[in-house]
Amino acid sequence: MSSALQIVWVYPDLLSTYGDRGNMLILAHRARMRGIPVDTVEVRSDQALPYGDIYLIGGGEDGPQALAAQRLAADRGLHRAVDRRAVVFAVCAGYQLLGTSFFAKGAKCDGLGLVDLHSDRGPTRAVGELAGDIDPALGLPMLTGFENHGGRTHLGPGVKPLAKVRAGIGNDGATEGVWSGTVIGTYSHGPALSRNPALADLLLRWATGEESLAAPDDTWPTRLRGERLGAAGLV
Ligand code: GLN
Repeated sequence: MSSALQIVWVYPDLLSTYGDRGNMLILAHRARMRGIPVDTVEVRSDQALPYGDIYLIGGGEDGPQALAAQRLAADRGLHRAVDRRAVVFAVCAGYQLLGTSFFAKGAKCDGLGLVDLHSDRGPTRAVGELAGDIDPALGLPMLTGFENHGGRTHLGPGVKPLAKVRAGIGNDGATEGVWSGTVIGTYSHGPALSRNPALADLLLRWATGEESLAAPDDTWPTRLRGERLGAAGLV
């Protein structure tokens, strides 16, 4: 097995909207900046999920989302990854399919049951800027992203929201995303980790066991954050 950090992008052929691929590029770049060797692996939906340290799952339209859930349920590689406390970062459709059920094309679909949550359909499509105060226990600045989803997500008692909504809808207009162990789900596209480099570094710290990572030059991500939080009326 390689000693490099293994970053697995799950099903880019089905789940990759609004630049979610950038999450893989940003994680790999921020790891290499710290001298951490990285392998990135793109796993199509007709391939078995390999061993990984970090799994990335992106957003998708309803049809591909339902197919991805079926294939991941049959594969069980993501279940094994969660059992051994690998890091999972899941966005929108990828987030919804971690739960017990979600809706796609009007039909209720089985999720993977990896996190105690389920998604139903909201009264409107949530489209636009999304921002929220991240759970203080994670020690991160405000979450910023772009959302576009019809689903609404309801968390079970065993898990915590990632953030409290300041702009946009997120899970339900009050909370956004989920945090459970080393699994994070969010409705933030953008890609999320370009707008939230501290969140990228949290995933890297979880995956490597490093307590802190050298501070990089974040001039450009900081400008991007300021611009997008300004667009949401938050600075
Ligand atoms: N199909 C899902 C929904 O509309 C997820 C959309 C997305 O990933 N952007 O709720």
